[in-house]
Amino acid sequence: MKTIGLIGGMSWESTVTYYKVINETVSRRLGGLHSTKILMYSVDFAEIEECQTNGDWAKSAEILGSAALALQKAGADFIVICTNTMHKVVPEISEMTDIPIMHIADATANALIGAGFSTAALLGTQYTMKQDFYKERLTDNGIRVLIPNDNDIETVNRVIYEELCRGVISPSSREEYVRIIDSLKRGGAEAVILGCTEIGLLINGSCSPLPVFDTALIHAERAALYAIDEEIK
Ligand code: GLU
Repeated sequence: MKTIGLIGGMSWESTVTYYKVINETVSRRLGGLHSTKILMYSVDFAEIEECQTNGDWAKSAEILGSAALALQKAGADFIVICTNTMHKVVPEISEMTDIPIMHIADATANALIGAGFSTAALLGTQYTMKQDFYKERLTDNGIRVLIPNDNDIETVNRVIYEELCRGVISPSSREEYVRIIDSLKRGGAEAVILGCTEIGLLINGSCSPLPVFDTALIHAERAALYAIDEEIK
């Protein structure tokens, strides 16, 4: 079994999901008392969020690159970064390490294509929705991406940082998200990407007007299967 190097804490609310889903997947596949070999480097999210707000991506790359290097030195075989937004600095992190990084957007695009979808709505932080680093990766994988209008981007982003990353789950925010997903559906989306690892704490398939692709669940499950060398469908 390979050892997974998790870079977590962004926020820790969703890193819990990764730890649980990775172990559940391996336990289901291998049975018995099997669990997953995991090393985790959990950062202080306040430091990362400050870098985001200041546009200091170089500093955040340094913090996460050092974390990846520590995981490599400790024996990790590959890296899983438990957030969509910070995949912005994957090129810099890759330069600091020799082990592969399992990219969350590639995992998500493969899941969408596997399910027969080619046009998807994307919800995430303002950085993930507005900047190109994430959308381009999806587009390169054959997915057409739709994002909310400016007001709705602000709402989705605010709920992530002010509520979900602090463990607050609000029914009125859920209603807002459902409304936003519905308007993207009317705009032509066939599915919705929960492109922030905390959104799955608020939205799931039973309340969403579109089929849900939860990046945290997809990424965690694929990491688990890769760790035990199972074919990923
Ligand atoms: N976990 C979130 C994501 O998947 C947001 C937190 C962050 O900015 O890293 O993008």
